[in-house]
Formats: sequence, structure tokens, C-alpha cells
Amino acid sequence: MTRFHIALIVTALLGAALVVSGNSIWLGAVAVGLVILVGLGVAIPHLSFFGPYVCKGDHARRCVALTFDDGPDANSTPALLDLLHEEKIEATFFCIGAKVARERELAARMAREGHLLGNHTFSHSYATNFFSVARLQDELTRTQAVIHEAAGVVARHFRPPVGLSNPRTFRAARAVGLQVIGWSVRSLDTRIPEPERIVARIVQRLKPGAIILLHDGNLPAERLVVTVKLLLASLRARGYEVVRLDRMLS
Ligand SMILES: [Zn+2]
Repeated sequence: MTRFHIALIVTALLGAALVVSGNSIWLGAVAVGLVILVGLGVAIPHLSFFGPYVCKGDHARRCVALTFDDGPDANSTPALLDLLHEEKIEATFFCIGAKVARERELAARMAREGHLLGNHTFSHSYATNFFSVARLQDELTRTQAVIHEAAGVVARHFRPPVGLSNPRTFRAARAVGLQVIGWSVRSLDTRIPEPERIVARIVQRLKPGAIILLHDGNLPAERLVVTVKLLLASLRARGYEVVRLDRMLS
């Protein structure tokens, strides 16, 4: 039973108790409370309100996982892959299916160089959270197919666009055999222009088992490479090992 189901049951019981005790005037307040709770559940992955949203890994080991969303991107992903190869780092790429269809060789290179490919839907629509289970499942299945065709691997992890979720997110992911992944550290790398500030923000929030959210799509290659270089140096200085997401979760 999810927290969402528990909230529904508690609200129903509370509503019934109010009616029975002649305090129906408070029903509106209970309904507003539920709406606020559901809104928070949609927006905040860490609450795992609608299902098993994985937002961190093993606390016992001083390790973190780097995750890059919204690629593969012909402008920035090759430079990032060069850097990760040089630094011997394995990362996770939550790929957009439509971009994989355009950049098959880049997706193949990710897999060849030891990175994990995850599913970030086919179209990365900002309306994804309003999709039916069938439509969301279609987005996921098409992305699974194109990742498999291009890179020869089967994705096992799914990050919803913008991280918004609802009960349908988990139903669709389960049907396609995907684990829903969030993050514990959001870098805001698409909003903050200075690599030093991005890294300072990440470092402030670091804990063993952190899942760090970065982007390789829609980001200038130079900013991306400088940011990741600085980040890797900061992680090493603090004794953190970078491990691939699946290995940190297993
Ligand atoms: Zn995204």
C-alpha cells in the first residue's frame, strides 16, 4: 500500500467521522488537506507518495552516482563521454527516446564505454504527468525499443521528465519492467551558469549514497565539461567514489 492509498483511507475515515459526529462543516478543510498532500506528492520525489521512487542509494558506502538527463546531445555528450573515459568514470544517462533515434551512435558509445542507459520517455513532454497509463506505457516502450536497437541494451531504470509522478507513473513503469528513479542532489546545472556555483551547490548537499542529477542535453559542452571536471575533483578530495547507479542500488 502506498502513502497515497493511506492518505485516501485516512481522509475517507476522517470524513465519515465528521459526518457521523455532525461536524460536516470541516469536510472542506479535510478535502483541501488531501489536495495539498497530493500536490506535494506529485512535486517531491523523495516523499515516495505514489510508489517506490528511488532517490538515494547505499548509505553505508562513501559513494555517489552521477546521472545525466535529456541526451544524447550531439553538441555536448561527446565531450562529456571523452572526459568520463579519461577519468575512468561510469555514469548513468537518462535518455530521451526521440534523441536516441537521432543519435544512435552516441547511445551505442555510452553503452560501449560502460555507462548505464535509462529511460526518460520518448518525447519528454512537460504534460507527461497528465498522460494515461497506456500513453505513458507507449512512451516508455518506444524508448526501450530505440535504446535496444541503438545500444544493444535493455534499460531497467526510468526517470520521469521533471520528476513529477502520480499513481499512473508507477503502474506504467511496472508494466514495462522499469524502476522509477529520482535524485537526492539536484544540481540546477541548466539554470546556474557558473560551474563553481553548480559544484558548490552539489557539495553542500552531498551524503553517502547520493544520486546526483545533472544534464547532458541542452547544455553548452564547455560548461558541462568544466562542471563535471570540478565535481570529480571535489568528490575525490572528500573521499567519495563514483559508482554506476545500478551498482550503488544493488
Ligand atoms: Zn529531463
